[in-house]
Amino acid sequence: MLKNNFLYYNPQHLDYVQHVDLVLERRKKEILDFFNETKEIKFNVYLYDTIEELREKLTERGFKDIPSYMSACMKDEDNSINLFIPKENPSETEWNREEYDTAIFHESVHFVQFNIFGQQPEWLTEGVAKVLDKEYEGQEKQLIEEVNCYKITKIEELSGKTFCTDFYNGEKLSYLMIKYLLETIGREKFLKVIGKKELLEEVSKDLLPKSIEYFNKKYDVKGLENRNKNPAETKDLISFASKEYDEKSKISEENKKRI
Ligand SMILES: [Zn+2]
Repeated sequence: MLKNNFLYYNPQHLDYVQHVDLVLERRKKEILDFFNETKEIKFNVYLYDTIEELREKLTERGFKDIPSYMSACMKDEDNSINLFIPKENPSETEWNREEYDTAIFHESVHFVQFNIFGQQPEWLTEGVAKVLDKEYEGQEKQLIEEVNCYKITKIEELSGKTFCTDFYNGEKLSYLMIKYLLETIGREKFLKVIGKKELLEEVSKDLLPKSIEYFNKKYDVKGLENRNKNPAETKDLISFASKEYDEKSKISEENKKRI
């Protein structure tokens, strides 16, 4: 018996369907508790057999501009989580099932947040999902050192194709901004702020530089002199060395991992 609404799946792969159902249920309470949500939220899931089928079917369902690297997504348009079944023996460049479990959880955070707050800026939804999926937890010092070498962008640019570029990784910036807010104003106030458009606008004004300054101070990292340095001089943090780097919105390799 499945707990969530599987709107599409291949009955031949019922074992993996059940696995996804379990992954969605396993840490659901953690997400609901984070948002102080008490009502039951069921996930609407489309589960395709392969990553190719996922992209193809999303296009058929009318979603435009699906990036070639897309591997899992939460669609605001029809309130669904869209997934595929990773291979049992994937190559190094393909998703393995363990990593994909984190992707499933990450998408479920987007689903819950959208159910409660509706559409919100990408840096906010990605930041919250990254905090909850814990991928960067405990790596804040390394993150801030990396961010100090970025050519910093404006918060408004952390969206769509310019969310990750060769100059910065928007996922890491978003994580640090949300972490900063949670550490400084606390979760309860954070929820109040993100629930009110005016408050959110106010807080997001200088959030990016403030967060960077906060983590540089916290970890005693000297960051300012590296900031906005010519990205060609930054070592191997971002892999643009052999590429041209004058196109600001160029999609980074990092984008491939976006979920
Ligand atoms: Zn995401």
